[in-house]
Amino acid sequence: MGIELQNISKQFTGYTALDNINLSIATGDLIALLGPSGCGKTTLLRIIAGLESADSGKIILEGKDTTNLSPREKNVGFVFQHYALFRRLNVFENVAFGLKVLERSKRPSKSEINDRVEHLLKLVQMEWAIKRYPSQLSGGQRQRVALARALAVNPKVLLLDEPFSALDAKVRQELRRWLRKLHEEIHVTSIFVTHDQEEALELADRIVVINKGRIEQQGSPQEVYDHPANAFVYNFLGNVNVFHGRIKEGMVSLGEHLVDAPDELKNVDEKPSQTFVRPHEIGISKIRSSETDVIGTIREIRLLGGQIGLNLSCEGFEHPIEAEVPRELYLNLQLSKGDKVFVSFNRVKVFSGDYEI
Ligand code: ADP
Ligand code: MG
Repeated sequence: MGIELQNISKQFTGYTALDNINLSIATGDLIALLGPSGCGKTTLLRIIAGLESADSGKIILEGKDTTNLSPREKNVGFVFQHYALFRRLNVFENVAFGLKVLERSKRPSKSEINDRVEHLLKLVQMEWAIKRYPSQLSGGQRQRVALARALAVNPKVLLLDEPFSALDAKVRQELRRWLRKLHEEIHVTSIFVTHDQEEALELADRIVVINKGRIEQQGSPQEVYDHPANAFVYNFLGNVNVFHGRIKEGMVSLGEHLVDAPDELKNVDEKPSQTFVRPHEIGISKIRSSETDVIGTIREIRLLGGQIGLNLSCEGFEHPIEAEVPRELYLNLQLSKGDKVFVSFNRVKVFSGDYEI
């Protein structure tokens, strides 16, 4: 295992920031730690790096118990959310920094340092900027240099704390693809922290969803997206319509309508339920295709790039429903505000119990 966390807990003056975290990450994997702001992501990374100590638990890196080691002894690379380059050092000096401060017996020679920095800057496609200062670089370029700096000491583990979150959407998207490719070349065991589900789904081999200091679910992006373990994960991974109702006699109420309860909830005695439907899992048609279709009226139309967002008020439903349809379908059906349409729920996910979103 690259990283093994055993029973990590951390309190801040009566507040539980991490509650018994257990996590194993295979050597060479890139995992995303995904969760809302304040759920404990940074605290966990700081504990792994040795910048913060846990109240209990063990941190094992590449088979070695590093729980009580200092950050330097742990040999972990860290890239922070906010650009942390040294302003008075140029790009070369920034990347070389970690090597130059190594104790004499471990420090490479001057020419080895030169070669290594050049190699790393090539890897992050920044060799052209070797003499520049951080103020002469864009945000995305600075984060690439920060990554080269973190990699300079050949870390066993690379920790990235929302490294792209301060950048604009397009650059963020480019950098996440770039990072994925880079990871395929270097295969350093990495944890990428993010609160952005799209970033996590696109980037990582595995996703660990965390909420209020606890792991809610872990798995491949596909597993977590298609089979969310609970209502929190479902809600956090994308836009949803939520319908509150009851499970009773094998049926679930969806507005004033009833649908079959999923098998695992068929025998549940009467209980509150929450039914989730993603906007793109809602079908829209001008002709009725099934008895279970719901009649809706288009209240609002929004352009969302390739998709069109529809806000619908539906008969038997207290709240409006959000649907997303491909642009093509929208044009074919010649949809406009005020139109009556037939609405179908192509895929619903039911959870029993009350859950606060
Ligand atoms: P995230 O990175 O997921 O946004 P953090 O790990 O930074 O969350 O914080 C988790 C919780 O712990 C937050 O409620 C935060 O306010 C609290 N916290 C973090 N660091 C400290 C600290 N040094 N002292 C007190 N509370 C802290
Ligand atoms: Mg954080």
